[in-house]
Amino acid sequence: MTSKRPGAQAGLRRHNMSLVMRALAAGEKVTRAAVAAEVGLTRATVSTLVDELLAAGLIEERGAQRPGTVGRPGTALALSETGPAGIGAEISVDHLAACVVDLRGAVRCRAESPAANRGRPAPQVLAELAELTELVAKEARAADLRPVGTTVAVPGLVGRDRGTVLRAPNLGWEDVNVAEALGRETVVENEANLGALAELWLGGHESGHGKLADFVHVSAEIGIGAALVVEGRLFRGARGFAGELGHVPVRPDGPLCSCGAHGCLETYAGEEALLRAAGVTAGPALRTAAEAGDEAALRALEEAGAALGIALSGAVNLLDPQAVVVGGPLADLAPWLLPGVRKELAARVTDRQWRPEDLVTSRLGRDGVLRGAAYTAVRAVLDDPTQWIAR
Ligand SMILES: [Zn+2]
Repeated sequence: MTSKRPGAQAGLRRHNMSLVMRALAAGEKVTRAAVAAEVGLTRATVSTLVDELLAAGLIEERGAQRPGTVGRPGTALALSETGPAGIGAEISVDHLAACVVDLRGAVRCRAESPAANRGRPAPQVLAELAELTELVAKEARAADLRPVGTTVAVPGLVGRDRGTVLRAPNLGWEDVNVAEALGRETVVENEANLGALAELWLGGHESGHGKLADFVHVSAEIGIGAALVVEGRLFRGARGFAGELGHVPVRPDGPLCSCGAHGCLETYAGEEALLRAAGVTAGPALRTAAEAGDEAALRALEEAGAALGIALSGAVNLLDPQAVVVGGPLADLAPWLLPGVRKELAARVTDRQWRPEDLVTSRLGRDGVLRGAAYTAVRAVLDDPTQWIAR
């Protein structure tokens, strides 16, 4: 059905352009014909859209490909290496980081500085972060990139305005307006949510059911962070608290948790609990101890894995996700942690089709959250290229 109303026409153009951009984001060296087949539009419509996107510098041609195919030899298309880009920034307890990604999601500039941020005045932290983001933005502009938005990842609860940190206990922050300090085009997002979005957008995982669109993403730094992606979208919950896996009870009569309850997952698998049980003082030391076969470290990891598996089996039984993805610093410990998780999942998940390989480790490594933050602005351009063209 087509409508001649201008609003509907504009909406259709925006929608179709986004289809083309996202098809190019998903594939490499794609021709006009391949895009048309993929998105279900006519070749003529796709050619018109492609011409507009080429003129706007959002995509580029990559020489002829496969002459001899039906019709004219198809010229390969790809998202541009210049033009719109996204800035990501990360505030964590022990460091600040910023990076820029281009339309393809590739990291083009990156800066990091160690900082003891726990209890440090927020204006000081934000001033230092602003310096880092300005540094990478300057570098990006020199490479012909145009940053269109900044997303800041924080270990805390973010307000509905997406500019304020309501509460970040590990930083000692309450009601801190980050957008005001860093500029109007800045949004703030919880780090666990960005880890999950990075996996959705850039993770490159497939399951037996195709591209991952339904999954639980677990990461940990100080606390256990988790986020849910349901039907290709981040699930925030009615009040924005979804994903608090760290406070799912593992043993109701277990140790007292910082939240006031007993036996939460965090008291068994949170970093603090894990380091204490292993008898080491920092994450890298834990990995070294595990690699060396240290008995206390191995036992601590096995027990943390079992607790994580118990909590996750509840989530898997409740949500029936395609996969559980372990990311962030937790992924570094996967070789020792995951066997325990797998064992509990195998014993407790009722779905007979759940396979051990449905528990996967993220390929994004420690930069998952930062890349997810940076890609947020890029994703907005892919979703609505007409906004960029209108600039
Ligand atoms: Zn708790």
